[in-house]
Parts: sequence; C-alpha cells; structure tokens
Amino acid sequence: MKFATRAIRTGHQRTVEGEHCEPIFATSSFVFETAAEAAARFSGEQPGNIYSRFTNPTVRAFEQRLAALEGGESCVATASGMAAILATCMGLLQAGDRILAARSLFGSTSMLFDKYLARFGIATDYVPLSDLDAWAAAIRPETKLLFAETPSNPLTEMVAIRPLSEIAHAQGCLLAIDNCFCTPALQRPLEHGADLVIHSATKYLDGQGRCVGGAVIGDAKRVGEDVFGVVRTAGPSLSPFNAWLFLKGLETLQLRMQAHAASALVLARWLDEHPAVARVYYPGLPEHPQHDLIANGTANGAANGVANGAQIGAEAQRQTGAEARPGTSAEAQQQTGGGIIAFEVVSAHSSRAREAAWSVIDATQMLSITANLGDTKTTITHPATTTHGRLSPEARAAAGITEGLIRVAVGLEDVADIQVDLARGLESLLRSA
Ligand SMILES: *Cc1c(COP(=O)(O)O)cnc(C)c1O
Repeated sequence: MKFATRAIRTGHQRTVEGEHCEPIFATSSFVFETAAEAAARFSGEQPGNIYSRFTNPTVRAFEQRLAALEGGESCVATASGMAAILATCMGLLQAGDRILAARSLFGSTSMLFDKYLARFGIATDYVPLSDLDAWAAAIRPETKLLFAETPSNPLTEMVAIRPLSEIAHAQGCLLAIDNCFCTPALQRPLEHGADLVIHSATKYLDGQGRCVGGAVIGDAKRVGEDVFGVVRTAGPSLSPFNAWLFLKGLETLQLRMQAHAASALVLARWLDEHPAVARVYYPGLPEHPQHDLIANGTANGAANGVANGAQIGAEAQRQTGAEARPGTSAEAQQQTGGGIIAFEVVSAHSSRAREAAWSVIDATQMLSITANLGDTKTTITHPATTTHGRLSPEARAAAGITEGLIRVAVGLEDVADIQVDLARGLESLLRSA
C-alpha cells in the first residue's frame, strides 16, 4: 500500500463489534480465561496483552501504523519524545559507551545527555551537524551511537543521512535520527541508512497541539526487544488516549505536511525579498547550503507530494545537474523544505536586534507566541530568549542563534493571513528605521 493508505489503514484490527473508527482500549490490565492461560502469557509462551505498561491494543495500532510509515520493522511508543530518547539510550548503551551528537540539538536532549546520562557513565561528544569530516574524526573506540536532528532547530541546517550512516557503520556505531521536523511524510531516515528514528509525536504526528508522546522505530531486535524492554520495565509507556489521538493525526499527516511546506515556501520567498529581513533560513530556498538534499523544493512539488519520491528526487537531481555519487550529499532525502522557517530581522544597531525581533513578534495579532511547533496554528518564537535561552551567550553565538532571529512554525491557516500578521511588525520596523 502507498504511504497515504498506510497512514489511514495500517494497524487497526477490527473487534467483534465491527467499529469503523479505531477503539480506545481504556484498560490498565487484561483478563485471562484460566490460571494456565495467565501463566502462559506471563511466561511468554502465549502472545497477548497482560498490562498496559507492557502493551495495549490502541498503542499497538499506533506503533504498527508509524512503523509502516517509517519503513521500520518495529516501533515502540513512549510517553513523550524525551522518553523515546531516554529509552533508546537505556536500551542500547551502557556505562563506558559514548554518544556522538550534533551540536545543534533540542535543548532537553543535550541536557539529558550532559546532565543525566553522564552521571551513569555515558558521555557525549559534539560536532557541527553538517560537517561529515568532523563526525568521522570524532568517533572514538567507545562511541556507540551517533545522534542527529535534520533539519536542525531553528536554523534548518541539514546533514546528509546516507554518508553519515556509512561513517557510523564503518566504525561499528548506530545512527539515530530525530525525525520530528520532517515526519515520515517528508523524510524516511531508515531508507537512507539510519538505524533508528526518534519521534516527538507531540509535534506534527499529532499535528493539532493536543497531547505529548513519542516513539522509536528500528529493527525488531534493537527496538522490538531492547528499547521495548526498557519501556515495559521502567514505564514511560504511552497512554491509549494519546495513542488514539496520534492515530487520528497520522491519517492526515501527508496532506498536512504538504500544506505546511507549501505555505512555508510562499512565506520564505516573501520574507527573502522583504526589506526588513536580513536573512532567511529555509531548506526550500535554492540558496540554502544543503538545498541539494531536497527532492523538490517547489510548491508544485509539495502539491504532488511523496507519491513518487524516487522519481521526484531523480528529477530534482537532473534539474540541478547534481550527480548521484555514493557517499556524497547528492542523494535527495527530504521531500520539501518542511514547515519551519527562521529569519533575522534587520536592525539599525546590533544592540537593538532583540528589541526589533520582539517588536515583530509582539505586533502579530493571530500567530501564537509559543515554542511549540507542528500545530495547525502558526507559532512564533524568539529562540535566543526561549528555546536557546539557557545557552551561554558564546554558545548561542557559536550556534548562530542571534538576537534578531525569529522562528515561525507555519500552520495551516490561510497563508495570506499569516503573511498579513507577520507584515505588521516588519513594516513598523521599516518605519522606525
Ligand atoms: C519537542 C522535541 C523533542 C522532545 O519531545 P517531547 O515530546 O516534548 O518530549 C525532541 N526532539 C525535537 C526535535 C523536538 O522538537
């Protein structure tokens, strides 16, 4: 079945009631016909549900659907995206192992690595996301896991997954990709050589800002046994209510991601031309440094969607003249530029950049001032004082998070209304300059 069909049909095993919509199994435990059956379930001789910390049919439906979308053998759902990262590390690493991660990481992920996993003897080294030579050079004998988000938050820097996976495998390491920004509708890291995919389902998989959850996808041994073992034992399991919301979210994922990306491209092009904007970061713009990793950056391509990704990718390569050399970044891995844009406002004095960015944010009337993303509602954030506010000024500068930077997670409102809202503040900047 094709992607959109799997997103709607996979995972639901209709019960004797003949329900059309997936049921929510709101039950903590399951009963057995006999004592012998209970014993057989507990011993593992007989497959089946025991207790919802271990397995739950609604949660399993979500896991099967997401595994089918990412192209993985196994999926384990978790209570949050962070729980997915924790369970992955606990399931696959031990004291003395090292993680090698991209420097630009979700804030809580680097905090988990540096503050908590470090206490249990798992240290983390960091490299610049898109610098493949730096990744290769930084692998030590103890390094077991390479970890990256692509595109990065908020500057949308990308890493070529295929060559990174080759670097990892040459040294006996696993590659985990946090696919939160793209979702399998736009990027399927396992198809490009990654071993593990991590999700914060809180973002685009739900897509409507309703609940928190996460997932890990990969092979049956590592995910289906090792990561699952941590979740069922330590207990960061997903609630069946939240799993049901995610099931509903997945049904519209492809349509939503196409619409987010189509609007984002319109806005990125407009911002790129706007006199109050100094710089736009969006993978769909041709000047983006890793634009060649995008299969099709056009609005037309977004509308055509992922139905035939390989063909679109080949076409994009033909159009750009890029050759598909193995081990280089020429392999298109992301269908569109996605839904997240960052841009820097112009300010007469660099000391007033924060003031300028805040004034643009505060001038909006419709956009939600919140750090969340992946919602139908467009959100606007000042990374330097929110998501990246805990970094030292030097670390922030090194990461390229300037005081004039604004991140917009483009929602599904009419793009004209989003543009009008952003224009208010940008135009007042021009007037005050
Ligand atoms: C939000 C987010 C997470 C953490 O997910 P939660 O569901 O909030 O725990 C991890 N990675 C990225 C890229 C995120 O945006």
